[in-house]
Amino acid sequence: MSRFSDRVEAISISGIREVFEAASDDAINLGLGQPDFPTPAHARRGAIEAIEAGEVDAYTSNKGTIGLREAIAEKHARDNDLDMDPNDVIATAGGSEALHLAMEAHVNEGEEVIFPDPGFVAYDALTKLAGGTPKPVALRDDLTLDPAAVEEAITDDTAVFVVNSPANPTGTVQSPEDMREFARIADEHDVLCLSDEVYERIIFEGDHRSPMEFGENVAVVNACSKTYSMTGWRLGWVTSTTDRIERMLRVHQYVQACASAPAQYAAEAALSGPQDVVAEMRDSFHERRDVLLDGLADMGLETPTPQGAFYAMPRVPDGWIDAVIDEGVVVVPGEAFGEHGAGHARISYAVDVETLKEALDAMRAATDRVS
Ligand code: PLP
Repeated sequence: MSRFSDRVEAISISGIREVFEAASDDAINLGLGQPDFPTPAHARRGAIEAIEAGEVDAYTSNKGTIGLREAIAEKHARDNDLDMDPNDVIATAGGSEALHLAMEAHVNEGEEVIFPDPGFVAYDALTKLAGGTPKPVALRDDLTLDPAAVEEAITDDTAVFVVNSPANPTGTVQSPEDMREFARIADEHDVLCLSDEVYERIIFEGDHRSPMEFGENVAVVNACSKTYSMTGWRLGWVTSTTDRIERMLRVHQYVQACASAPAQYAAEAALSGPQDVVAEMRDSFHERRDVLLDGLADMGLETPTPQGAFYAMPRVPDGWIDAVIDEGVVVVPGEAFGEHGAGHARISYAVDVETLKEALDAMRAATDRVS
């Protein structure tokens, strides 16, 4: 019989996949967590030119090319007013690897990691893989994370707390005051605030501020995946203080060596080229969000306003999700994102308006059936 590690036996393949498998082939899929736009032409060109010039045939520096890390530092100067050393950045295989590095470098066996519930599925799994103990914290009624709830959950055994704004699966955005509080809590309790900012450029209302602007005990995870519709390229990064980056680099060096070189050149071009495509995609998500919210409100479903990302999380009656799937639309049950997600559905609106309207008709039929 095969023997496996306790750590890997403690996790399982994401529940989201089961939903896709249950749906018919011609179902409208509102379950996906990726933008439906092409990668911007200038990003693709960055990779193509580097490939043709023979610049991607070898390993890059473990941290990533200096060109990319400078572009990332400039991005943080532009958006967060931070004076960042490009040496305090590691380019990673997507935001996912960046989260993994942060957990591995900061969590001791049995130490606690606090994260939002409902929250992105990787937080729980990566905590367990690092040998840590997950400590999910319920959200406020408006589906944002309350700094006071995080502070209350912190014990002497807490190593990390995760903040994610705009958030998956809720689409909600933390206020600048909350972000300032998270930074204070991290400094005061000497725990790492791991700020997952992969949706930071997809924001319709409010203002994204990073806790890194307000404190020292912060690591920021970001990626080109959502901002530039580059989920397939697998390019993200983590940035933090020099000592934390050095520890995370130890992990990165052995699990990844370096991020894919073609993707690094595409990311550099994406970050340093024209940014109007980002605004265009955001405006398109904004329009779709409004169509979805209007439709859900018409059905009488209460939905905390998603101010960013491309998800909404309405409260739904019993049997609604099965009825919606039965009507040919895939949405994800809230409990896939944590115990407190129960009674909600995550709806991704990374589809065109026409498809969204068709999906809303099916949801309306399902709502009539179960109410
Ligand atoms: N963080 C959040 C909140 C996400 O939703 C995702 C992807 O869905 C990631 C991180 C991982 O992003 P990447 O595709 O860059 O690994």
